[in-house]
Formats: sequence, structure tokens, C-alpha cells
Amino acid sequence: MKKFDVIVIGGGPGGCKSAGILKKAGKSVALIEKYEDWIGGTCLNEGCIPTKQYLDTSSYMQKKDYVQKCGLHVENMSLDIKTLKQQKDSLIAQLKSGLSAKLKGIEIFFATASFINENTINVNGEQMQAEKFIIATGSTHRPHPNLSIDKKFILSSKEIFDLEKVPKKILIVGGGAIGCEFATFFHSVGTNVTIAEFTPTLVPNEDKDVATTLEREFKKRGIDVYVNANITKHTIIDNENIEVCFATPKKEIVDTYDFILVSIGRIPNIVDLNLENAKVHVEKGFITTNEYLQTSNSNIYAIGDVIRTPALAHMAFHEAFIATNNLLSTNLHVSKQNVPFVTFCEPQVASVGKNEKMLQNEAINYRVVKNFYKTSAKAKIMGDDSGFIKLLVDTKTDVILGGVMIGHEATEMIHEVLIAIEEETTLQEISNMIFAHPTLSESLWDTSFL
Ligand SMILES: Cc1cc2nc3c(=O)[nH]c(=O)nc-3n(C[C@H](O)[C@H](O)[C@H](O)COP(=O)(O)OP(=O)(O)OC[C@H]3O[C@@H](n4cnc5c(N)ncnc54)[C@H](O)[C@@H]3O)c2cc1C
Repeated sequence: MKKFDVIVIGGGPGGCKSAGILKKAGKSVALIEKYEDWIGGTCLNEGCIPTKQYLDTSSYMQKKDYVQKCGLHVENMSLDIKTLKQQKDSLIAQLKSGLSAKLKGIEIFFATASFINENTINVNGEQMQAEKFIIATGSTHRPHPNLSIDKKFILSSKEIFDLEKVPKKILIVGGGAIGCEFATFFHSVGTNVTIAEFTPTLVPNEDKDVATTLEREFKKRGIDVYVNANITKHTIIDNENIEVCFATPKKEIVDTYDFILVSIGRIPNIVDLNLENAKVHVEKGFITTNEYLQTSNSNIYAIGDVIRTPALAHMAFHEAFIATNNLLSTNLHVSKQNVPFVTFCEPQVASVGKNEKMLQNEAINYRVVKNFYKTSAKAKIMGDDSGFIKLLVDTKTDVILGGVMIGHEATEMIHEVLIAIEEETTLQEISNMIFAHPTLSESLWDTSFL
């Protein structure tokens, strides 16, 4: 029987990062990934990287009208989605080869792992043992109660990357980060896009002012948005289109689409693992852990989307760092507070630290300082001055406690707020700093004078 110091289950960002740190620490490590050639997991193969490749390409089309106004001739700009797919595949291959080089020296098995007992797993019929395990099996799309994925008319985010032509008209069910990103992509490349979101706002985890601004901006750009929308019926028409009925507070909508994208969240991958054999507890589908990321079995750690922390690749990286260091005998806590949340729609949305709801719940006195992009020369140069930067500041100490942005490059600029929060920077201290001009970043500096 093969024996290792540590077996890492799942080859996504969390699993790969953990395996790399353990190897560097001199441990014998096995990494088990369910699918052949799927190193990098959801993030690299069907998540963060392909979506951002698609969005970056479509962003040029989105700017078409503005650059034309500036004298650039781009009348016949159109997207060949097959070529974009090839480019995406070649990017993934490139990043995968870099990742594989980092994993050199680690035994990698492509098979489904399941526990036989607390220190033995079954990998393709072969038994393997380890003193410790890290579970990083990630997540998969959350099924919709009325819309089962059929890969033709009802798709999840995974099947989007198999499209061979740009659709004419689509319905996106779910207005969270993934839904809003795909809405941006498809709208930019000429598709007629409708979003039906079940809750009262888009990006429901963000502050309300951000969500309403995003809804307004989407509508302004031509994306139809319905909130409090509930799918009631769907019918395939002539094997060509799908007709969908959904109820909204004002009226019932009945319309026909090329396909529906279902993006209503993610659920942890735990079914194959036989966790009861390893005495690992699960609550509401998520593996439970303590602050050191140990499961109910202290020799087994769990990280990433499979536990109830924000389902983000950078969270999986952070947790890989915490869990592996704890396994190697330090005592680090997972950081839950200063996690940047980023949505790469247009305008981009990002937040970090405490939001208004958290501050109100914790009865912390805070003041809001809000600066609009329309005061930014750089945003105007870039052709879109929609959105704002909002900082939440402790009334007593002037320390920045949280920040939210909607607008150009919010997903980059949010890290300035992250550092400010981590360093307990005051608004006054930001005013004393020198920010380059003309930049989007100087809007943050400007905010400090409000
Ligand atoms: C469309 C989309 C866009 C996204 N965009 C972003 C973004 O821009 N930024 C961001 O931070 N996050 C983004 N995410 C989320 C991000 O992809 C996940 O948070 C991240 O991949 C989680 O990492 P992980 O290591 O926990 O799991 P995963 O990346 O899901 O990897 C888990 C791996 O475990 C394997 N596995 C499962 N069960 C077993 C088993 N029993 N045995 C062996 N192997 C198994 C799976 O095949 C998989 O490869 C996006 C997700 C999607 C779907």
C-alpha cells in the first residue's frame, strides 16, 4: 500500500497551493485530482481564468462606441467565439504547464478519492494511507429546482465555454457575481441579455447602494434586469429555442431565448468522499472546521469552496496557507474579515472589510465618505465615469473599516483599501499621501477630503 505524510484531495487552487507548500517543507505528498488534465480545478479550467479572458476580450467591443467618438475606426468589430475559445484553451495550457512545474516532485493521481477509514483512502481501487489529509474538493454549480442542465437550452457556467457561435438572445437566471459577469460578456458582444434574479437585488452580498447602481447601469447599457423574479415554466420550441415564463412583482414575463444560463450559486463537492468513514462532520452540505481549519477529525483539514467561507480562489489560497502551516505545527487563524469580494462585470464591483450591515449589527459608529467617478479625469478619459468609491470610517478614531467600489478597475483598486484597513490607516493619513495624477487611484485620495 502507498503511504504518504500528507494526501491532498482536489487539484484546484487550494489543493495545488497546499501540496506545493508541503513539498517545500520536505513532506511526502500525494495530490489526487478527480479529472484527467484538470489541475487548477474550477478556477483555471472553467472559472476565474476563462471568464476573465472572455471579459477582457469583450471589453474592447464594449468601448467601441466611445473610441469611435475619439476617432478610431472600428465599425466592423465582431467576435469569432471559436477563436476566443482556442485562445482561452491555449492560455489555460500555458498556465497549467507553469503550475505543473511547481508541482514537480509531488505524486499526482487522476482519480476520485473516497475515505475507507480515518487514514486510508480509495483511489481508483487502490488503497493509500497518510497521517494527515487536506480536503480541497471545491464546488459545483447549484442545481435550480425547475431548470435541470440539459447542455443545449439550459446551461451552467461550464457549458458556456463550449459555445460555437454568439447567441442572439439569452436569459441569465441568477444575478450574483457569475451571472453579472456573463451578462457583461454577452451584452458586450451583441447578445440581447435578460437577468432574472430571485432576491430583491443584483450582487445580493454587496451594500444596497452598489446593487442599485449596478442595476441602473446595466439597464442604461441595455441589459434587462428583473429582481424578485421567479421562474414558473419553460418549454422547448421546435428544438430551436426555449420559452420561459417568470413571475415578477409587477407582471409575468413570457419570452423566448436561445438558451438559459443558470447561475444561482455553488454547492460543495462532498458526495464521493464518504466522509462518515473518516469521522468528518458536515453541516448543510459544507464540511465544518474550527478556526485552524481542522475538521471534526483533527488530522484532516478542509479548505476552499468545500467549507463555509467565501467561495473565491484567493480564499482557497489563503486557507491553503493557513491549513498547511497548522498541519506543519504552527497555530494560524483563518482571516475572515478582510477578504476582497470582486465582480468583473462592467462597471466592476469590489468591496473589502466591514460593510454597512456588519457595522450596524456590531453597533459601531461610522461615517460614510463617498466620491463619485464623475469627478475623476481618468475615468472620463477612459470613456465611462459611472460609479463611486465609498469608505466606511470609524467616527471616533478616523480609521478606515471598510470600502466598496463600483466603477472602472474597482477589482484592482480595492487592494489599496485592503492595505489601508490592514494597517489601520486613518482618513487623515490618506490625505497626507501623494497619489499620482491622472489616475483612478487618486479618487481614493480625493475621498479622504470628504
Ligand atoms: C464561472 C466562475 C467564475 C469564477 N470567477 C472567480 C474569480 O474571478 N475570482 C475568484 O476568486 N473566484 C472565482 N470563482 C470561484 C473559484 O473558481 C473557486 O472559489 C475556486 O476554484 C475554489 O478553489 P478550490 O481549490 O476550493 O476548489 P476547485 O477549484 O473547485 O477544485 C477542486 C478540485 O477537486 C476535484 N475533486 C472533487 N471531488 C474530488 C474527489 N472526490 N477526489 C479527487 N478530486 C476531487 C475537482 O475535480 C476539482 O478539480 C469562479 C467560479 C466560477 C464557476
